[in-house]
Amino acid sequence: MSKFVGAHVSASGGVFNAPLNAMAIGAKAFALFTKNQKQWAAKPLEDETIGLFKDNLAKSGILPKHVLPHDSYLINLGHPEEEKRQKSLDAFIDELQRCSQLGLDRLNFHPGSHLKEITEEECIDRIAMSMNEAIRRVEGVNLTIENTAGQGSNLGWRFEHLNAIIERIEEKSRVGVCIDTCHMFTAGYDIRTREAYDATWREFDAIVGFKYLKGMHINDSKPELGSHVDRHDSLGKGKIGLDAFGFIMNDSRMDDIPLVLETIDETIWAQEIALLYSLQG
Ligand SMILES: [Zn+2]
Ligand SMILES: [Zn+2]
Repeated sequence: MSKFVGAHVSASGGVFNAPLNAMAIGAKAFALFTKNQKQWAAKPLEDETIGLFKDNLAKSGILPKHVLPHDSYLINLGHPEEEKRQKSLDAFIDELQRCSQLGLDRLNFHPGSHLKEITEEECIDRIAMSMNEAIRRVEGVNLTIENTAGQGSNLGWRFEHLNAIIERIEEKSRVGVCIDTCHMFTAGYDIRTREAYDATWREFDAIVGFKYLKGMHINDSKPELGSHVDRHDSLGKGKIGLDAFGFIMNDSRMDDIPLVLETIDETIWAQEIALLYSLQG
């Protein structure tokens, strides 16, 4: 078994519920929020909560490296205003510490937005500066940058953006990327046919590099190729179609990393996980 597929499961009632929710849908990987993703502040994780999380994770048989926590949507490490960048950085460091306390080794985050107030280049500088400081402050957790659809002023939709951030990171072993198939597609990278899939990943490898790939979000897309709109769909129901997901399930470059569904109908996640495994040749 070399593919580790799961979904972004609920942690409501406590983070320790997430591994149980993953187990219930036959997942071998999962994502979670370690705090309310729509609020800045969160109370620290209690020892009892941490203990229960680790017990339940062990019970699920899912390895820490196959868990991909996602940070709060409020955080913008590239914020044009220094005070707000600092607020984001503080919250980001808190998220990294929570991952570390839970025994997890990566944190998935959206790189940031220039809000049309600064240039892309300046925003990338701020993101990298924030990441370098976070790396100095918290040990042992990989800062896993997610590619975006390029909606609004969000950076990180071009492979070149991901590379430009990585280039500015002092400790390269502490940075990674998470590729979301929906975001990739609506950013303009086609993966629907064998030829398009191969060409897109060849470009990814040349510009970013597979050694940085620490996770994937497996989503079909409601909008068209290159639309820069972020709307996920259930597998096979959107504009990407099932073939691409079959290519992924048979591609050894995606072995041993969390492959996480964020598709829109959570009542069929168990079926979607089973469907993905059935695509393995
Ligand atoms: Zn995300
Ligand atoms: Zn999305």
